[in-house]
Amino acid sequence: MKVLQIKCPHCQQPIYSKVRDLAFYCSHCKTMHIRDGGINVIDFDVAEFHTNSPPDRVYMPFWRLFSGFTINQSNVAGGMLNKLGRLLKDTANGGNIFIYIPAWETDVNEFKRWAMDLTEAQPVYSLRLDFNNVERAPTVVPKEEAMKMADFVIVTMEAEKPGTLQYLDYQLQVHDARLIYLPFIKGAGGVVPGF
Ligand SMILES: [Zn+2]
Repeated sequence: MKVLQIKCPHCQQPIYSKVRDLAFYCSHCKTMHIRDGGINVIDFDVAEFHTNSPPDRVYMPFWRLFSGFTINQSNVAGGMLNKLGRLLKDTANGGNIFIYIPAWETDVNEFKRWAMDLTEAQPVYSLRLDFNNVERAPTVVPKEEAMKMADFVIVTMEAEKPGTLQYLDYQLQVHDARLIYLPFIKGAGGVVPGF
């Protein structure tokens, strides 16, 4: 394994990291920065594990896109949007939603599964200030790339049920992307939520 040594841009402490991770965490000053062309210190969240979680723990990174959604016109069998209708509580024609984009290296099915699951059933968790020495999966998806995936997630969510969505004219604006580390448990069939 290749190990990269860099300096924390905030406190100058050395950080050792696997080279394929875009996100660098400084355990000294507890800041996170992204190296993706430039060096940017970012805000991030670390969620607390469920107290009964087994020991095979790992933090998986997501870009959580704070997005404004406006429906201009839609034609849906049954008269309303299936999943978006339930998410958009503010008004019938729009509102704000969090779209979750897996930031680790996934295949298409895994990407779709976690993006759909967490966007549809928004995770509830409490926050902690550090990783408590739990392993962190590397972030490989840059923030800008994640922001471009918002449309794909929304359309895939609504198109999942064939024949339901006939026409949808909408506007989606991603206001902000935040790196969120969610607790997972490693198992034989992949990871399962630990929050
Ligand atoms: Zn630091």
